[in-house]
Formats: sequence, structure tokens, C-alpha cells
Amino acid sequence: MQGVVIHAPKDLRIEPVEVRTPGPGEVRVSIMAGGICGSDLHYYNHGGTATIRIREPMTLGHEVAGIVAEVGEGVTGLSVGTRVAVNPSRTCRRCEYCAAGMQNHCIDMHFIGSAMRMPHDQGGFRQSLTMRCEQMFPIVDAVTFGEAAMAEPLAVCLHAARIAGPLLGKKVLITGSGPIGVLTAICARLGGAREIVITDLHDFPLQIAGQCGATRTINLKTEPDAMPDYAAGKGYFDVHFEASGNPLALQQALPAIRPRGVVVQLGLGGEFAIPINALITREIQLLGSFRFDADFALAVDLLNSGRMNVKPLITAITPFEDARRAFENANDRSSAMKVQLSFS
Ligand code: ZN
Repeated sequence: MQGVVIHAPKDLRIEPVEVRTPGPGEVRVSIMAGGICGSDLHYYNHGGTATIRIREPMTLGHEVAGIVAEVGEGVTGLSVGTRVAVNPSRTCRRCEYCAAGMQNHCIDMHFIGSAMRMPHDQGGFRQSLTMRCEQMFPIVDAVTFGEAAMAEPLAVCLHAARIAGPLLGKKVLITGSGPIGVLTAICARLGGAREIVITDLHDFPLQIAGQCGATRTINLKTEPDAMPDYAAGKGYFDVHFEASGNPLALQQALPAIRPRGVVVQLGLGGEFAIPINALITREIQLLGSFRFDADFALAVDLLNSGRMNVKPLITAITPFEDARRAFENANDRSSAMKVQLSFS
């Protein structure tokens, strides 16, 4: 069985990876589709981020879907041939955070395709993967494997929407029109937002956002006055989702947020300089949002029931043998949104 393994920045290899026979409570899945995420790109381009770096070869990927190929002892509800979206997080189910339903804060979390722990948690860009049965979420026939592989980033955005609170009738700003920004726009539309304004520095991702529920798209390069206009009075937006991870995006957006507005920071970044007086004097709430918990099941439900269309985001599907080409394509935000690998 082959996998897509990162050895060092830009050193991505297709090579044999170990596949375990499923033990009790486990299943082996033939992976069919895998989406390239921003974190995969960080490993590919730079070997990771400031604090999380590759220290040994690691199979990339955590947005995956496939077909159950082998079932371990004691597994119910899944059989050979079941089509599934894979939840990449394996929690301990025992710690105080798991017990409190805050699984994304599990103190013993394993997340596939992550170099956070040593040895690294090997990822899902591989032909075959063995995992706990609780991480498998069946999908209906109408949902493609590519769409099912969007369940993970969709869960991230549903979690952010939950952190933000009710969106019904709200004016929403989203900075960063990558997959997370656009999926957040889809969630905001589902939540009944009155207006959904999304910003970026490229036209291509903004066009896709326009197809996915954004009521206005703003290219900050070509429309530099758009955000200052929203700052008139005491701002315009009730809720701001910051999905770019760019400190400038937060700084420029703050004057456009109304008093007692909510800012949800989704984009990971390094050090941010925040004009703290703007937060204090307008009583703005700045909230973090990280990964997801029960939101994954909700994401799969919304895809299965056809209430969320994530198809416009999938801009390329590339055979995994050409992973390097796919990663270079994903790096070009002027022509790519979500690039996926196929493993069939
Ligand atoms: Zn736990």
C-alpha cells in the first residue's frame, strides 16, 4: 500500500506505508479521496509551522473518505463496503474534557497527519488506513467521496458558527475566502444571516464564495475603500469570522465591527498585534475556535441530507501519484480552492 509521505520541505514522496490489520473495535478503510488542507501545505512548503515541525517522515492528510474494507472484532453498524467520511480525531473518551463534551480539548488527542506528537500521528493520504470504528461516519450514495472528505473542514466551520452564537438576522463579515472562509459563508447562510460579506486578495476564491452564499465579495486589493466605508458610525457587522490568519485582516476589520459584536478567530497565525482599545471601548468579544467536536456528525448529516452543497469548492481532483503537482496547484490561490487527491 502506498502513501504520500513528507520527509522535509518540498520533499514529498509516494512510498509504501504500513497498514495494520484491524484489531477489536477497529476497521480498515480503502481511502478514496483526500483534501489538501492549509496545514498539509505548511508541512509541504516549510516543514510545519513555528511550533509544530516534522521530526520524522509523516504521511500527510486528515480530510479523507473511503470504503470500509475490513472489520475488526466487536464492530457494529459498519460492514465491508460501507462508504464513510473519516473523523480524523481520536480522543481518549476518559479525560475531563471528553466527559464534558469538549472533545477538541482532549488532553490525549490523536489527530491523523499531525506532527504535534512524537512519534507523529501518521496521516490519511494513503490507499488504506486502519482506525477506530467510532471515527467512521456512513455517507449516502448521493454524496461523493470528495464531498465526504469536506466533512472535516465543514465541521471546523460549524464549530466556529456555534462559538459565534445565533446568526439569524446578523450581518456577518468573513475575512479570507479560502475553503474555511467559504464553508463558513455556507454555514452563515444556513444560520439565517442577513448579510454575508467576504474579503480576500484574489478574485478566484471570491467568485466561488459568491456561488456559496456570500451577499458581497470584496477584493481588498482592488477595492481598498470598501472596509473603511463599513467603519462609519460605530461599525456595521455583528459577527466577524477571521479565516485568513493574517494579522492585518483582523486589524483592518475591527473598526467595522459594531459595539458588542463578536469576532471569531479561526485562522491560525503567529503573533498578532491587536488594537486593544478598539476591542475595549466597543466591548467586542474576541473568541478563538479550534477544530470541532460533535460538529463532525452534524457536518455529515448536513451533507447526507443535501442541505449543504460543497461541490463548488472542489476545484481539482488529482491522482495521488501526482501529489507533488496537486500540492503545487493548491499553493496557487489565484486558481485553486480545495484540491483533492484520489486514491481509487
Ligand atoms: Zn480526552
